[in-house]
Amino acid sequence: MSGSESTGIVYLIGAGPGDPGLITVRALECLRRADVVIYDYLANPEFLREAPAAEHLYVGKSRGCHHTPQEEINALLADRAGQGKIVARLKGGDPYVFGRGGEEAQYLARTGIPFEVVPGVTAAFAAAAYAGIPLTHRDFTTSLGLVTGHENPAKKMSSLDWEKLATGVGTLVFYMGMANLSTIATQLMGHGRSPQTPVALIRWATTPRQETLIATLSDVVEKVREAGFKPPAVIIVGEVVDLRQELRWFDNRPLFGKTVLVTRAADQAGEFAALLAAQGAQALECPTIRLLPPESWQELDAAVGALAEFDWIIFTSANAVRFFFDRLNAAGLDARAFGRCRICTVGPKTAAALHPFGLKADLISTEYKAEGVVAAFGNQKVAGCRILFPRANRARDIIPPELTRMGAEVIAPVAYRNGTPETLPAGVIEELEARQVSCATFTSSSTAENLVEIVGQERFLSLLEGVVIACIGPITAKTCRELGLKVDIEPREYTLAALTEAIVEFYRSPGR
Ligand code: SAH
Repeated sequence: MSGSESTGIVYLIGAGPGDPGLITVRALECLRRADVVIYDYLANPEFLREAPAAEHLYVGKSRGCHHTPQEEINALLADRAGQGKIVARLKGGDPYVFGRGGEEAQYLARTGIPFEVVPGVTAAFAAAAYAGIPLTHRDFTTSLGLVTGHENPAKKMSSLDWEKLATGVGTLVFYMGMANLSTIATQLMGHGRSPQTPVALIRWATTPRQETLIATLSDVVEKVREAGFKPPAVIIVGEVVDLRQELRWFDNRPLFGKTVLVTRAADQAGEFAALLAAQGAQALECPTIRLLPPESWQELDAAVGALAEFDWIIFTSANAVRFFFDRLNAAGLDARAFGRCRICTVGPKTAAALHPFGLKADLISTEYKAEGVVAAFGNQKVAGCRILFPRANRARDIIPPELTRMGAEVIAPVAYRNGTPETLPAGVIEELEARQVSCATFTSSSTAENLVEIVGQERFLSLLEGVVIACIGPITAKTCRELGLKVDIEPREYTLAALTEAIVEFYRSPGR
């Protein structure tokens, strides 16, 4: 809250090295309270979502590579705090490690603006952890130095005491050192460090773009030139670098470096994205389904009101459960309204969606198709039963006629509609056009059909040319083939976990 009569406050916040999971709990607290977020080049812009209503000011490098001058940043901090606002000053890594956080804090202290500092995971620590390099290890080194590789250009003489650095400190980590790499290597060797000392360069550490180059002091300059290795990177010098061979874990996961397109509805993409991320992939969310309420609630409301008169209710997705309970709730009812009505679900995920409401499924079809539900009912006496089936508008028409044929009376109101968004999220088309997407996933026929609807048939095929296509099951795969795609991956079981596993398997084969 911003009290207009009180002075504001500035939180100097370390946003961590890039992986959004590496921000602190305290930093998030401050961000969520902020009226203004002032952020840098190296602070992950995803964090702006934590403060959607706040003013967002970017003061990092622009395309021309200019930073906003420090005086201007100071003036902004003073201006907004002077208006009584809560200012989150978000910096990459830790604000007090080569981030000019010290200078900003001095300015605030001298002008009497209240401030607090929230530390962050600094690039050296993050890069080391994610590259598999313990910065200290009893067998190799007992000391660590964090060094700037880019001294204030105004200084005439280097203030780095190369002799002491070269031999007096075990592990050295250089920040901003790429442009001066040759000086760094030469000075260290010239002052007594062995040319065979291992060196690791890690760029964009902790992000899906992380890259590591391993060399020695003697050949690092040449290797960097050959590889065209670019900043931002930290340079780790010391024997501990050799431990990477044994301790590497991040960039050797099966899907590391792969971008996977996720076309599920936005509110369901998270679970799949997390499964993919756990294997090292970067999930590119591209929801092609938008869940909408039915045109009218009338039919569903009537069924909700008469729930206890049904013998069975069938849920084929967690969405159906969610929309159904929304209406139950809107009618002022709760789970007791089910009375003796029994519940059938497709798959354990849909069954689990009932648990928050205190309900358990009586029958769980393990086959993830409408046919599975009908088969599951085959063992039950359904003749003469009244069955409620709250469904999606585009559900395939199998369950109601089959159960009717088996002698049941089926009421199937629309509980939600699968709509098509008008556009794709910013950046998705660009990534596809730039051939950055390795694999596209389709988890239902409509995810593919809707994509065609959004981009057009011709564009759909050209954008997906050369992209590995993964489908959750045979029906989705059939739809994709009819739309002109070649399906490369189809899991045996129709779950997101199995689909992820099948993608991993696919890329395990040599040459992929
Ligand atoms: N305050 C920041 C450092 C800012 S100086 C921190 O604590 O991390 C900028 C330098 O940090 C870059 O030149 C690079 O050397 C390093 N750096 C920052 N983020 C990095 C990342 N994700 N991967 C590798 N180096 C990074």
